[in-house]
Amino acid sequence: MFKSLLINKIESRYTAQFSEIAESDLPEGDVTVNIDFSSINYKDALAITGRGPIVRHFPMVPGIDFAGTVSSSSHPDYQAGDKVLLTGWGVGEKHWGGLSGKARVKGEWLTRLPAGASSKHVMAIGTAGFTAMLCVDALLNHGVKPEDGTVLVTGASGGVGSIAAMILSSIGYHVTASTGRSEEATWLYQTVGVNDIINRAELSSPGKPLQKERWAAVIDTVGSHTLCNACAGVRYGSIVAACGMAQGMELMGNVAPFILRGITLKGIDSVMFAKEKRASIWQQALQHLPETRLESLTTVYPLSEAINVAEKLLSGGIRGRAVIQCS
Ligand code: NDP
Repeated sequence: MFKSLLINKIESRYTAQFSEIAESDLPEGDVTVNIDFSSINYKDALAITGRGPIVRHFPMVPGIDFAGTVSSSSHPDYQAGDKVLLTGWGVGEKHWGGLSGKARVKGEWLTRLPAGASSKHVMAIGTAGFTAMLCVDALLNHGVKPEDGTVLVTGASGGVGSIAAMILSSIGYHVTASTGRSEEATWLYQTVGVNDIINRAELSSPGKPLQKERWAAVIDTVGSHTLCNACAGVRYGSIVAACGMAQGMELMGNVAPFILRGITLKGIDSVMFAKEKRASIWQQALQHLPETRLESLTTVYPLSEAINVAEKLLSGGIRGRAVIQCS
């Protein structure tokens, strides 16, 4: 038996509670993994609290990412003892996820732990950091260079935002953080490595369709009016990488930045991102995020704290990454 966080919905009553589960209760799959670490991402927080329609069927073990050791496998690529990680593929939404002592999944969803990386290190990066790396990769592929000027990162105290800002800073970009948390200024400057901070209120209301070309590029984790203002203020021909919706899902903007400044709005999805490209994104993320540097933006909690952490994340009480120790 092992401990899992189990979400249930009976009639209209939504519950998240810890249960003892047997391996025979796990869903179908060809690889069983002993989980070392998972993490709490925005989506996990919505799933655990029931504040967003993330879970597709019940009961569900949440946890959209995990890292651990294969305990048994009938998949040709994996055998007992292999170190693996998983992000996305609907795990923790449609298929039981990582906030548990064990998971059983499809081998095709797994990525081998990169050489030299620990389970804790890759979960400090987790889905949030993998997505941040995808956003930075989009800027690099677009040809944005450090000498082009300031890159704006929104939701900068959150998991995706803080890691995106840290990666950009490690490459040498000048980074402006948009945040609602003035109390995190010292942490953002000294630990994350940003150069300037603006109050997120500057971007969160409807703005002019074309604004001063202030940003060399933007990584946006919050959506809604913030995303529209980011598009209105990014430099001619440049790019806004949009991955999140912490402010809102809606997009009520103006086509002017697209047709008069030729900007690109690049959507970033980590869930179904191509399997064959994942190892290289992980390598890049690990290169920019050594474990010692990441420790300063990561807090590790026991599995028993996962519900409290989810509540805190949605109320702005978690900065950086929340890693969950599952064994
Ligand atoms: P966090 O909760 O850690 O960070 C979100 C941040 O957004 C907060 O820390 C806060 O930053 C900011 N924020 C929160 N509410 C508002 C608001 N009302 N208006 C403006 N800013 C706000 O979440 P994650 O970093 O894990 O995820 C960020 C977003 O990215 C989420 O929407 C998530 O669903 C999405 N995501 C998408 C993925 C993909 O594949 N596309 C993968 C992973 C995440 P601050 O306090 O600094 O203002």
